[in-house]
Amino acid sequence: MAEYDFDLFVIGAGSGGVRTARMCSQQGLRVAVAESQYLGGTCVNVGCVPKKLFVYASAFAEEFRAAAGFGWNVPEPTFDWTTLRDNKNREIQRLNAIYGNLLENANVELIEGRATIRDPHTVQVNDHQYTAEKILIATGGIPFVPDFPGSELTITSNEAFYLDALPEQIIIVGGGYIAVEFAGIFNGLGVETHLVYRGPLFLRGFDEDLRNVLKEEIENQGIQLHFSTDITSISRLENSHYRVELNNGESMTTGLVMYATGRRPNTDNLGLENTAVKTNTNGSIIVDDYFQTEEPSIYALGDVISRVELTPVAIAEGMALTHTLTTGNPTSLDYSNIPTAVFSQPNTASVGLTEQQAKEKYGDDLTIYRSHFRAMKETLAGGEGKIFMKLIVEKTSDRVVGCHMVGEHAGEIIQGIAIAIKAGASKADFDATIGIHPTAAEEFVTMKG
Ligand code: FAD
Ligand code: NDP
Repeated sequence: MAEYDFDLFVIGAGSGGVRTARMCSQQGLRVAVAESQYLGGTCVNVGCVPKKLFVYASAFAEEFRAAAGFGWNVPEPTFDWTTLRDNKNREIQRLNAIYGNLLENANVELIEGRATIRDPHTVQVNDHQYTAEKILIATGGIPFVPDFPGSELTITSNEAFYLDALPEQIIIVGGGYIAVEFAGIFNGLGVETHLVYRGPLFLRGFDEDLRNVLKEEIENQGIQLHFSTDITSISRLENSHYRVELNNGESMTTGLVMYATGRRPNTDNLGLENTAVKTNTNGSIIVDDYFQTEEPSIYALGDVISRVELTPVAIAEGMALTHTLTTGNPTSLDYSNIPTAVFSQPNTASVGLTEQQAKEKYGDDLTIYRSHFRAMKETLAGGEGKIFMKLIVEKTSDRVVGCHMVGEHAGEIIQGIAIAIKAGASKADFDATIGIHPTAAEEFVTMKG
């Protein structure tokens, strides 16, 4: 039998790679991980973590507004972007160091540099070749920007985290998680914010009621929505602004254009051509239920397989693969009822089926419960902010098959409800649960048809 340098060579120290490397090493495998850019990957450096810190920052604007009705006399607040950006950078450096320690303490060898696969058991990093019995590709994704005249003048979320200064206006293109979250961030930080989306309503794939309610909420906050619209070209103006031509014949002038039009699998120069690994038309790596590629010694998970591009999913895939590799017992992941939140302001969060999906699955055998009410805080704050909640119940079994919310802390609330739904809770179980008063969440246990 060949003697390899490592039992497992992981490419990419992001959410999925770090978890798999650490867990496999702790189970006795000899593990290396190569990282070309930053420890912790997208989530820690240019994803979930800095994004959430920016959401916190921008939410203060609403708190300052609300404060007066509660008796606070708040002087006109001012905001300093560089303080936020630099404090965020320091926090990320702290997290990078923690990730380094986690790998070191788990006895994983960290190799800094871009990895290329040379053959099914050999990985090259810098000038050195390493052999491994198994290789894991956990290289994540990178922003995708369509090609059009002036596309090189745009930024993506990667750059948005490190801007030298905030623009006075921004156009954000896209209608997914990143576009919606960043529209809220920039708007809250005082930037005139336009969201341009090619379809009729953003957040395609989410429950339609949620999408409509969020549209109303963020329009009330001043975000300017341009649906069924796309950019055809961008050109630079002399005053460091941009002229943007739209496909409806109109044009706009703006200080910055950010594209949030999805991400593509990061397989550039990975050396897949030296293996039997196969990819889908979008470039994502094809794996079976156990994350094994067409090349038996090579596995892949996380964003690079484009199943569900969320950090906890990449981590769960890593745990399943660890189990497979260290016990010999092939372990797959149950992708049903994955809760998710868009950190819009207010949050939009869901678990289970949308109404449309539930109708496709159960036909008319459904009861839908909806509640749409003014947030209690607004009674004194004087704003219009509303909360929307929805439960979808399969009539025959009484099982709650979908739960959706737009409102403050919806991400936190839906995380709790997700446990009940994963456990198969019925509407009767929800009804038998005593509420916590006064909360918005108690509405979920008192909903009547
Ligand atoms: P990544 O975390 O991307 O890690 C891949 C790593 O591989 C990177 O560090 C990269 O540098 C490295 N790499 C790539 N190629 C090579 C190579 N050839 N050699 C060596 N190293 C290489 N998810 C959530 O659950 N909640 C959120 O709130 C959330 N917010 C997000 C906000 C933004 C702006 C973005 C962009 C993403 C967000 N996500 C969020 C998604 C989440 O970040 C990803 O799903 C997650 O990071 C995927 O983990 P991964 O391990 O597959 O890849
Ligand atoms: P999404 O896939 O969520 O959204 C992409 C958006 O871009 C869609 O509205 C899509 O439109 C639009 N689009 C795609 N191609 C084009 C094009 N050529 N021209 C114009 N519009 C286009 O991707 P994101 O970039 O927002 O985020 C990537 C992933 O990262 C998310 O799917 C999510 O999994 C993860 N993420 C998770 C977060 C969280 O958990 N809170 C936060 C941020 C990211 P259409 O719908 O019409 O196809």
